[in-house]
Amino acid sequence: MKVLVINSGSSSLKYQLIDMETENVLAKGNCERIGIDGSRLIHKANGKETIVETPMPDHNVAVALVLKALTDKDVGVISSMEEIDAVGHRVVASGEAFKKPVLVTDETMALMEEIKDLAPLHNPASIIGVNACRVAMPNTPMGLVFDTGFHFTMPEYAYMYAIDYEHYEKYKIRRYGAHGTSHKFVSQEAAKYLNKKPEELKIVTCHLGNGSSITAVDGGKCVDTSMGFTPLAGVPMGTRSGDIDFAAAEYLAKKEGMSISEVLNYLNKKSGMLGVSGVSSDFRDLTSASEQGDKRAKLALDMFGYCCKKYVGAYAAAMNGVDCIVFTAGVGENNNFVRKSICENMEYLGVEIDEEKNEEKNNGEIRDISGKNSKVKVLIIPTNEELVIARETVELL
Ligand code: ADP
Repeated sequence: MKVLVINSGSSSLKYQLIDMETENVLAKGNCERIGIDGSRLIHKANGKETIVETPMPDHNVAVALVLKALTDKDVGVISSMEEIDAVGHRVVASGEAFKKPVLVTDETMALMEEIKDLAPLHNPASIIGVNACRVAMPNTPMGLVFDTGFHFTMPEYAYMYAIDYEHYEKYKIRRYGAHGTSHKFVSQEAAKYLNKKPEELKIVTCHLGNGSSITAVDGGKCVDTSMGFTPLAGVPMGTRSGDIDFAAAEYLAKKEGMSISEVLNYLNKKSGMLGVSGVSSDFRDLTSASEQGDKRAKLALDMFGYCCKKYVGAYAAAMNGVDCIVFTAGVGENNNFVRKSICENMEYLGVEIDEEKNEEKNNGEIRDISGKNSKVKVLIIPTNEELVIARETVELL
């Protein structure tokens, strides 16, 4: 069985074709700059990269190009579209409308329309991507897999905000979290690696990338997570502030004459590592600037490490202990400085890392960087969100 995984952005469409018998990626790629000048398709298959520069006025054209590349005589990996047994779509926000993956139908798509302003930057793009695939592959079953899905096991006291309960009921304003497919994948991989059942473990998973979130996974289930109603909350990120006192935002808005949406844009796009450092949102740039003595880059990194450490401690408290800490995503997998700053001075929790192992280069494999006396396993696990989406799509069928 072959599953095509689609991750649609407003001007991009990423894809992977996965053979579910072996879970190997047969081909993957990205349509960039859809609807703007200079659009191109980057297609990777059989160890070869092909770039097709061609206008892509909309997602329908992009999907048609992807299917053409997948079935192409030279760079393709299947002989016809009929070989695609199912399509799995990534969706960022579900609200309370979807607590688990669902099949694409007219009804579920109507519900998707209703909740699209929960993630105005992401969900409308997913809808466009799904619709484009339905046009191109009207008879292929499709699933919607939500970034929020893994987090629906949080207890009420963890997901509620302390606001008027009627407003929660009326508008469903609460914590939803994000990166759920990644937290699910790496927590399951950690259990496998440690030869334990997920039910036996208390794990803190740190998905640290351009967007970052930290999750408490107790007995295989999410019990708390750092992102909130939207992915703005939690630890500071590349360009997002993370947690901030709302009164500070209102004060800033008044002083700078900004509207609520302008403040939100500021907190989402001009804050975080970029805002504090004034250097970059990219952790590679920040680490090298800090090493060259840039004080604000160092401050941004110190704030990030400190905030992540606080979440790890909070989640150990929430779970009455922690057996394993997992690092994943761009920063978690590659940045030893960040991992060290989170894990040092946590002897009280029994956390100790082996500095040499921590500094080894990422080899794309699971790595155990725990120190020899560490009571807590510290693992680096490459994430694979597409594989989770493909697996959940197969389960749906
Ligand atoms: P996104 O949230 O956009 O998916 P990623 O998980 O790709 O982000 O993470 C992007 C961050 O990861 C960047 O700040 C970058 O510094 C860091 N990163 C990604 N790849 C590497 C690498 N090979 N070496 C060092 N840092 C990396």
